[in-house]
Amino acid sequence: TSFHDLGLAEPLVQALDAEGYQQPTPIQAGAIPPLMNGKDVLGIAQTGTGKTAAFALPLLHHLQAVKQGARARSCRVLVLTPTRELAVQVADSFAAYGRQLRFKRAVIFGGVGQNPQVYAMSRGVDVLVATPGRLLDLINQGHVRLDTVERFVLDEADRMLAMGFIQDVRKIVSHLPAKRQTVMFSATMPDQIASLAQSILHNPQRVEV
Ligand code: AMP
Repeated sequence: TSFHDLGLAEPLVQALDAEGYQQPTPIQAGAIPPLMNGKDVLGIAQTGTGKTAAFALPLLHHLQAVKQGARARSCRVLVLTPTRELAVQVADSFAAYGRQLRFKRAVIFGGVGQNPQVYAMSRGVDVLVATPGRLLDLINQGHVRLDTVERFVLDEADRMLAMGFIQDVRKIVSHLPAKRQTVMFSATMPDQIASLAQSILHNPQRVEV
């Protein structure tokens, strides 16, 4: 299969061409079709497999298919990552794949002043990439609201667990609408991650590479 065969919008296919991606990796070939269909996905894949594009491409496709602004202080797509470095990397990937689309994005992480992040969220964004601790702070202060999120990604769930973020993740999930598309990626499936998957995913398609 090609990216075109997966049904991705032409501006996305062109951006992938510009990135030099010739064909989908196995995780992309497995995860993109159910995500295009609106299904939840549990992806078991390591970094380096192309997992970022596996979720970013179908989510960007859905964003461009239904053009509407985000609500103030909210987002349409939320991606949680365990570290600031990964958050920046994921946001950069959305920017690269969505270079021909018009969409707003923001990145939120701890260890820096919160004011620029509060300002970036004030009018709402299409894609928010965040680490759990700072996002929860901003939610609790009323600077971010998640009640209109359409699609949610939990990336590197096993690292979230290792870093002690699972309670924060569960609190964040409690602010999301019950009706949403959810994607979870993890390199490994310890019991605690399997039970988290059970509680946040609805009839997921399991994709393993
Ligand atoms: P990730 O697993 O998301 O961290 O991606 C690992 C690396 O693979 C990144 O540098 C991507 O730019 C690259 N990549 C992802 N998908 C493809 C593809 N289909 N063809 C070539 N490179 C890719």
